[in-house]
Amino acid sequence: MAAGSETKHNFLEMTEIRKSFGDMTVLHDVSLSVSQGEVICIIGPSGCGKSTFLRTANWLTPADGGEVRLAGELVGGVPDARSVSTQTKELNALRARVGMVFQNFNVWPHLSVLENVVCPQMVVAKRRRGEAEKQALAALAEVGLDDKKSEWPDNLSGGQKQRLAIARVLAMDPVLVLMDEPTSALDPELVSGVLNVLKRLAQKGMTMIIVTHELGFASSVADRVVFMEEGRIVEEGAPDVILQTPKTERLKLFLEKLN
Ligand code: ADP
Ligand code: MG
Repeated sequence: MAAGSETKHNFLEMTEIRKSFGDMTVLHDVSLSVSQGEVICIIGPSGCGKSTFLRTANWLTPADGGEVRLAGELVGGVPDARSVSTQTKELNALRARVGMVFQNFNVWPHLSVLENVVCPQMVVAKRRRGEAEKQALAALAEVGLDDKKSEWPDNLSGGQKQRLAIARVLAMDPVLVLMDEPTSALDPELVSGVLNVLKRLAQKGMTMIIVTHELGFASSVADRVVFMEEGRIVEEGAPDVILQTPKTERLKLFLEKLN
């Protein structure tokens, strides 16, 4: 995707995202604009809408109102004159370059580690096996799993499974990676291995939105921390400002509970 300089500062634009489940509104016109290369950490209490918001970013969960643009192209929302010509095929190609990593490492148990990374490239990106394998090996090396390529996922630790899930996303050459509590299902001793991979990705300039409760990580890696509560963004800003000098009583309480 050719992201020109005009999209560098609003590479991902989520505008007035509204979402309800039945009678319950879980996102109240939430807007977030992300620059290319920016790392955003979203924090907030359980049930405040973090996952739902993240899933609207690639329209995995379609919102009821608002829109999402990536590099200026409409990913989700009501088409207007600016995007009326965007075809479904192009849209799918755009969405395929938004990677998503979930809490419970969705790896396929019936495929080897290598095939877990090769398969989606062949199916979704229509790459030939040779190219897909080359990409897969590079991605596995990046997450430190190159020596595990012939293993079955069941023989991996939780941390290794999560790094496999990350390699699978990286092999697709994502322009944006969304992560929903990537370390919260891990045993404590396995968390740092995954966070170190994420740190390296951040240093390489990967644009990421990460929902996390790891405040130390957020403080060292995030360019911006976003605090959500009850379906709204309550505070956002530089990590040291948000985490050290919270303005609202709600954020103060949330941080106290975590510490
Ligand atoms: P968080 O990730 O911050 O814990 P979620 O986005 O998962 O919050 O959920 C926000 C609210 O929406 C919660 O009350 C949750 O129960 C509700 N919710 C989430 N997904 C669904 C769904 N598919 N159907 C009904 N309610 C949902
Ligand atoms: Mg969640």
